Amino acid sequence: MAKDSDKIAKLVAGIADGQRRALAQAITLIESTRADHREDADLLLEQILPLSGKSIRIGISGVPGVGKSTFIESFGMHLINKGFRVAVLAIDPSSQRTGGSILGDKTRMEILSRQQTAFIRPSPAGATLGGVARRTREAMLLCEAAGFDVILVETVGVGQSETAVSEMVDMFLLLLLPSGGDELQGIKKGIMELADMVVVNKADGDLAPAANRAAAEYHAALGLMRPSSPNWKPRVKKCSALHDEGIAEIWSAIEEFRTKLWESNEIPDKRVKQAVSWMWSEIKESLVFAFKDKPEIDKALEKVESDVISGKIAPATAARKLLNIFLKA
Ligand code: GDP
Repeated sequence: MAKDSDKIAKLVAGIADGQRRALAQAITLIESTRADHREDADLLLEQILPLSGKSIRIGISGVPGVGKSTFIESFGMHLINKGFRVAVLAIDPSSQRTGGSILGDKTRMEILSRQQTAFIRPSPAGATLGGVARRTREAMLLCEAAGFDVILVETVGVGQSETAVSEMVDMFLLLLLPSGGDELQGIKKGIMELADMVVVNKADGDLAPAANRAAAEYHAALGLMRPSSPNWKPRVKKCSALHDEGIAEIWSAIEEFRTKLWESNEIPDKRVKQAVSWMWSEIKESLVFAFKDKPEIDKALEKVESDVISGKIAPATAARKLLNIFLKA
């Protein structure tokens, strides 16, 4: 135990000193599912928590091919050139199914990944909470403690992951393609509602006129929705991540968002609510895990489940029966 607390103290010191190596090791520790590692991770988190909270947390989502990695590269370099330190936490829920992670592709964000003041980390999607790597939120806190000014949490648009990401960030950016009309129909209204900013990417060359039309359509669509904040109306921006166009304007709008929502206390309030709701998500997840882990449940489950399938007992009755076994076990 003493050895471990030494190890944790070293990690904390390294993180506080902004060392990327210590940060990477700490993230590996919090991602571990081993019980003893989890205890160390809790100790670590407790110590870094007072150092966290100073960044702006930005969620970035969009369908594969919309240009997320190109955008993050361009946007990230813009921030680095301004003197900011940028961390990118990339979540790829599809890796759970395919076994391989498309985000593991080394060619993504090549220039950004070579910067001393950038930190890029793909999150394994193994244990997910609402489609989001469960430990991404903690990794975000660690990045903040290591002095990163801007944290970008990237996720591939699969529906539920946007909701989970929007619940851990200050601002949610939705990247869209310059093909309004049909695509607009395809985007779930719920996801548009989460967006604090819609960015139409690929607004260049032959796609420029379509990008203008799409931006106008999205603007109209957002106008029909009730903004989630009394202090911010979601904006529509156009950019060409490939040609670094429109990136500065997007950052100015983000700065405006941050100023307005800090001054109105909305970001601090939101973070408090997010922390409490995260705690409940963890409780629910841990309870289900403990439930399934009980040998008594394991024994009874198959029979009760087949009784539900054959219609012998009602699902609610079955649930109560199993819960009783769990509580008595
Ligand atoms: P991701 O799957 O969302 O991460 O998308 P990528 O960043 O890998 O981009 C997908 C493709 O779109 C690549 O071929 C990019 O070169 C291209 N792309 C990305 N941004 C732009 C842009 O602003 N303009 C144009 N014309 N192509 C882009």
